[in-house]
Amino acid sequence: MNNEAAKSCISIEELTKKIVDTDRKYNLSKILSAYEFAAKAHGDQKRSSGEPYIVHPLSVAEILVDLGMDTDTICVGLLHDVVEDTEYTLDDIRALFGQDVALLVDGITKMSRIPIFDKEEQQAGNFMKVLLAMAHDIRVMIIKLADRLHNIRTLGYLPPYKQRRIAQETMNIYAPIAHRLGIRTIHEELEDTSFRYLDPYAYSEIEHVMLLKKEKREMFIDSIIERLSRRLEQEHFSKTPMISGRVKSIYGIYKKVYILHKNIDEIYDKYAIRVIVDTEAECYLVLGIVHSFFRPIPNRFKDYIAAPKANMYQSLHTTVTSIEEIPFEIQIRTWDMHISAEYGIAAHWKYKEGIQKRDRMEERLAWVRQVIEAQQTSDDVEEIVNIIKNDIAPEEIVVMTPRGDSITLPQNATVLDFAYRIHTEIGHKTVGAKVDGKMVSLDYRLKTGEICEILTTKDPNKGPSRSWQQIVQTNEAKSKIRSWFKKERREENIQQGAMTLEQEFKRCRIVIPEGELEEFLADDLKRHNCESLEDFYASIGYGGVSLTKIMPRLKEQYIKKYGPQPESDNEELPIVEPAFGDGGGCITIDKIDDIVYKLAKCCSPVPGDDIVGFVTRGHGISIHSKNCINYVSAKLRGNPEEMERWMAVKWKETAKPMKLSTNIEVVAVDRVGLVFDVSKVIAEQKVLIHNLNSRLLKNGNAIIYASIHVDGTDQLSNLLSKIRRINGVISVDRARK
Ligand code: MN
Repeated sequence: MNNEAAKSCISIEELTKKIVDTDRKYNLSKILSAYEFAAKAHGDQKRSSGEPYIVHPLSVAEILVDLGMDTDTICVGLLHDVVEDTEYTLDDIRALFGQDVALLVDGITKMSRIPIFDKEEQQAGNFMKVLLAMAHDIRVMIIKLADRLHNIRTLGYLPPYKQRRIAQETMNIYAPIAHRLGIRTIHEELEDTSFRYLDPYAYSEIEHVMLLKKEKREMFIDSIIERLSRRLEQEHFSKTPMISGRVKSIYGIYKKVYILHKNIDEIYDKYAIRVIVDTEAECYLVLGIVHSFFRPIPNRFKDYIAAPKANMYQSLHTTVTSIEEIPFEIQIRTWDMHISAEYGIAAHWKYKEGIQKRDRMEERLAWVRQVIEAQQTSDDVEEIVNIIKNDIAPEEIVVMTPRGDSITLPQNATVLDFAYRIHTEIGHKTVGAKVDGKMVSLDYRLKTGEICEILTTKDPNKGPSRSWQQIVQTNEAKSKIRSWFKKERREENIQQGAMTLEQEFKRCRIVIPEGELEEFLADDLKRHNCESLEDFYASIGYGGVSLTKIMPRLKEQYIKKYGPQPESDNEELPIVEPAFGDGGGCITIDKIDDIVYKLAKCCSPVPGDDIVGFVTRGHGISIHSKNCINYVSAKLRGNPEEMERWMAVKWKETAKPMKLSTNIEVVAVDRVGLVFDVSKVIAEQKVLIHNLNSRLLKNGNAIIYASIHVDGTDQLSNLLSKIRRINGVISVDRARK
């Protein structure tokens, strides 16, 4: 069969003759216009062999004619590479050849975008499923097999590393599919040719052995055929049985040598005699004659008529020995079984007319699916069923990554489930997804055969969103998201807890000598089942430990251990309480006094500023100025979950403006006396300066920072406008830390 590789390529005239010579009805003019269009589209493109590209589609079409496929399938054989490799589109094909042809071409084009499969064998089964699922119309698969058959016949023109990869893929994927579809003619040639590239030494060794004994073998087979036909002539058959001899495929023999560790001379069924009769009953009649005429080898009889193989193969097999003590196999079958064995699924097009009827089509596809889904294993070593023993269950889907890995997921799985299955971190960093090249939403439900690409962010702060919990379908993804939140919350909680405790200590003037904190808190850690200081902080953070409850006792304990708190020379800083609730659409919160709040350091709001509160996790509310960059940018992001945590607050009316510290920054053209002028204006306004410093900017201007105490916003804005009037000042602002 492999000498076909050397066969010179077919011309359109020869193809036409071949089509006319079949006794099937073809729409020849449609096929010819498909040829003309493909020839024009491929133009002067060349194959690796140097031949014009059109040689390839022509050869594919020829294989499809040999298989007995219908007009549309042959047209697609001619057109199959047009969309992928030329400037013409699917719409062009649809306009010229109709929707059916366009759908088949689309199927082939999609398949050709799947990356070469060179993964481990366990994935091969899944990969096959993907291909078969992509071929919604089984004719797509048959065209793909014809395409691959011609490509592997001409593999010699490619560089060796490509030869290996394509041969491996063919051996792992396409040959088993051809086998599953029962197309022996394609199955064996795909196997033998791939094998020739994968193990050239073993191939030529077997080929050599077979050639050596060729004459002897042919003589032997001829004598058996003669003896058997003379014997069968004595019986009555409706038609004369056809008896022929054949040699098994090289790869078939190799597998026996390799798997059974036999010497090639010990392989029983290098030779096979095939007897084809008219009826099933005649098969058993022939079997009886064969068994009385030759000596059967025990346990070598297989009745594939009563129990067909997974791919619907039917025949009687038996191995017998001749009087010369040479064992050989006899296969007995009807003509129907024979056609089915040679052409498999393709036989439906070859010998049956009228495939247009939709229900017949459905019936056939159901049969194919059954063939594919069949989990039946065989004791026959020839079966490649062990490759696909990991057949996926129907309630699962198989989706591909852009690199060609197949991922099995439960039905209904979303792109997020897919992302988490690939890698936890990819899941966390997902920002979008593409399916078959198109953007989809994160709740998109994947289907078998789709290629899914996850888009991720490099932003280290990006994590899952809480709403994902409702989107994902797998427990795996759910628990990964949950644990992210637990972990992330913990870090946030520890930080906030530690900060709160520190502030509370400061307020109560508790100063614990370095390294003694854990010992000082040991009782409380125990009381709250905390194993470490971190645990304790985390508990404060999420509110498990209430500071208002434990502070009085801690104060006592502190005085007991370290003596009375030192008298402060500073007055305790006044606490200006923002009021939460009532007027102006503010959220009403009861027990205002229990709410822990702090003035945000980023914008240091002072009474009089418009403010807004942010509900921190486990640490009350932090008060920001409405102009604060953090609030403004949150509004811009507009994330609903985040926005829920911002609440309206306003200063208590009783909260009189008090001295508060704040920072200002002044940018001005640098000049002698600038800093003096600024500090003079501040002093004139009777504003206390804590700290003042200045530096030069790269552009030559000067910037002055001042930490000041003001009596509320009125005084502050007064001051700022005075400074603005100083000679050379460009801008004056509240400083953001
Ligand atoms: Mn092709």
